[in-house]
Amino acid sequence: MAASSAPRYRGRFAPSPTGPLHFGSLVAAVGSYLDARANDGEWLLRIEDVDGPRTVPGAAASILRTLEGFGFEWDGEVVVQSQRTDIYHAELTRLQLVGDVYPCSCSRSEIAAASSARSVDGGLLYPGTCRPGIPEGRSARAWRLRVPDRVFRFIDRVQGPVAQNLARDVGDFILFRADGQYAYQLAVVVDDALQGVNAVVRGVDLLDSTARQIWLQERLGFAMPTYAHLPVIVNAAGEKLSKQTLAPAVDAGEGVPRLAAALELLGHPVPGEVRSGVVNDFWKWAVSAWSIDRVPKVRGIFPGGTLPA
Ligand code: GLU
Repeated sequence: MAASSAPRYRGRFAPSPTGPLHFGSLVAAVGSYLDARANDGEWLLRIEDVDGPRTVPGAAASILRTLEGFGFEWDGEVVVQSQRTDIYHAELTRLQLVGDVYPCSCSRSEIAAASSARSVDGGLLYPGTCRPGIPEGRSARAWRLRVPDRVFRFIDRVQGPVAQNLARDVGDFILFRADGQYAYQLAVVVDDALQGVNAVVRGVDLLDSTARQIWLQERLGFAMPTYAHLPVIVNAAGEKLSKQTLAPAVDAGEGVPRLAAALELLGHPVPGEVRSGVVNDFWKWAVSAWSIDRVPKVRGIFPGGTLPA
């Protein structure tokens, strides 16, 4: 048997195909790509389309085309979450067998009537109605993961120390939804683990999901990757660029200047000769210049000025 060696550094980019690639996602793609390559690692690409109703037909293909046009090179096949429901089913079953998850019959309006506390996501904190068992005569709509009254702590490579109490800040959260879809939290944890991802670099909007993911890793017996949450690009109103805030799509035809703009927001000024050069030379330069320590330790960046954290 071959001697075991340290696992390969492995990052990933995992866009949700809810529309074309916009500048905010391009920044996350650039950061995760450079972090992987600068550490001589692999970079995987995964389409996160478990949320069927939010998935826009054609968006995944358009995102892949745009990334390719910008010269990103990913390792292996692109993984598509909608083709992996059997895997999520098997992992959810493991949790069901040991009682880590429980069926929940509550509707949104019932939760609203029973709870006034807010979760970090701005939604209502689940009051635990079905924790001891579904009330007589009701049937399961969703499956929730029990969370402990415990503070989860980790050191984010960009944002620094993070602490979150899952019971107080999040509540028992859904892994299988009433509409028959697996939740992002389950799919992302399972895929990161099964794909051997050990360095997650993504937008800071997912920072509040990280404690949930660490808990789920613990319950499923998966290793915890390192985390780096990059600042997200916000508009003049301080809102994250997204389809909802009508962020314009990026076009690979914009080439190096657009990549350079993304990298500069991550704290790496790009020399003029690189900016006016070809895409291959940009990536060569960027891989050698990348240092995650230079990424601004803030949550939101408004191009033209940093907003308060
Ligand atoms: N699919 C998520 C998004 O597009 C990213 C998930 C992740 O990187 O963990 O916001």
